[in-house]
Amino acid sequence: MANPVYTFPADEDGDIDWMNDLKRRRKSGPRALQQSATPARWGDATRAVHSGTYADPITGAVGTPLFASSTFRFNEGTYGAFEQGITRDVPIYARYGSPNQWAVQEKISALEQGESTVVFASGMAAISTTLMALTNSGGHVVSSYDVYGGTYNFLREDMHQNGRSVSLVDPTSIDAIRAAIRPNTQVLFFETMTNPLLKVVPLPEVVALGRELKLLVVVDNTFLSPIALKPLTLGAHVVIHSCTKYMNGHSDLTAGSATGSRKYMDRVWSQMLRFGGSADPWVCSLLERGLKTLALRMEAHHRNVDRIVQFLVKHPRVKRVYHPSITEPPDGWLARATSRRFGGMVSFEIEGGDEASLRLLPYFEVPTVATSLGGVESLVSLPFNTSHSSLTMARRQAVGILPGLVRYSVGIEDPDDLIRDLSNALERAYAPMNGKVRA
Ligand SMILES: *Cc1c(COP(=O)(O)O)cnc(C)c1O
Repeated sequence: MANPVYTFPADEDGDIDWMNDLKRRRKSGPRALQQSATPARWGDATRAVHSGTYADPITGAVGTPLFASSTFRFNEGTYGAFEQGITRDVPIYARYGSPNQWAVQEKISALEQGESTVVFASGMAAISTTLMALTNSGGHVVSSYDVYGGTYNFLREDMHQNGRSVSLVDPTSIDAIRAAIRPNTQVLFFETMTNPLLKVVPLPEVVALGRELKLLVVVDNTFLSPIALKPLTLGAHVVIHSCTKYMNGHSDLTAGSATGSRKYMDRVWSQMLRFGGSADPWVCSLLERGLKTLALRMEAHHRNVDRIVQFLVKHPRVKRVYHPSITEPPDGWLARATSRRFGGMVSFEIEGGDEASLRLLPYFEVPTVATSLGGVESLVSLPFNTSHSSLTMARRQAVGILPGLVRYSVGIEDPDDLIRDLSNALERAYAPMNGKVRA
């Protein structure tokens, strides 16, 4: 007999459809028993510390032990899991899952108030895997033209190669978002705040639109963290993080997460198995430790950024400050939903354009000049020669990135030190113009 040839998608009718049917029911798994769940009434700080910790029955370890194992011995339960199709929740093989992944997943689920989380090797793994898992060939995604650079490249370069089309619109305009929707639209993908201008997406309206038209609303909440905003509680279907940023908070790893209903996350998880972007146990162990202080760290970021914004708005060399506390109405939805806590990012435009901003950078003593954000240490960068360097001048202007823009990821240092340092750097950057001798 000749070897059979299998073609995907199968040409026989109906053969493959169920795989792509988002309504396909999945059995929810047993959820690892040793992973501690925390009551819904507990606050964020308590959950950040306790949710998901692996309670080791033998040693009574207070923290989750590091399971540095790529594979796990089979037993009755493993075979049962294979039979029932619930291999996501039993220790089998580290790409499928491990106690260290589950600890992180339970903690993020608790913080975002979602049913289920999948953790990834990076934010980009989370975004690409989730978008591929929740769309089909022929599907269409509406997103923003100023999404994170990596996401922009993925939407532009890869989605159409995989049979998905994408429309990029002004994310602050619900009318523009509505106008971009087509009969084959499946996902609305937006960031809660844009980079680097911290423009606010009208999320409640995006959610209402998605619910009305039966589209999935996927939100990248990296810039705010669940301490400031929990998009699932507003009705979004999936919330994504680059855990490289605030979630981990220590600039010592890359990771990502996607959180939503068990139904969607099972789908994302099985896509993750095939794409292979799973997070290894060491990274998960570090990320779990970072997450324990999330609420505490965010408090310091929020306090510090507010002080810096107050300083910047009064500074004579600063032309404009981009921060929701300035750019958004105090009674706007984001201000209310976050209790006026907007993460730790701020951008500002200084007099003298990019030349002046280039002069400014070397005078900073506390922040490091580097890209990325959300760590305990402050970082500064210039969008024009880093994150947005691939955009033409005209495109940058259209987005609103004007010459002289500085992006500041405010860390958790002593706010007085940050302000003294910023004041000093600004003073020295303009020293020749003040008639003083430049150091
Ligand atoms: C950094 C970032 C990403 C990508 O995350 P990685 O962990 O670097 O892959 C995605 N979205 C936003 C908003 C980010 O800031």
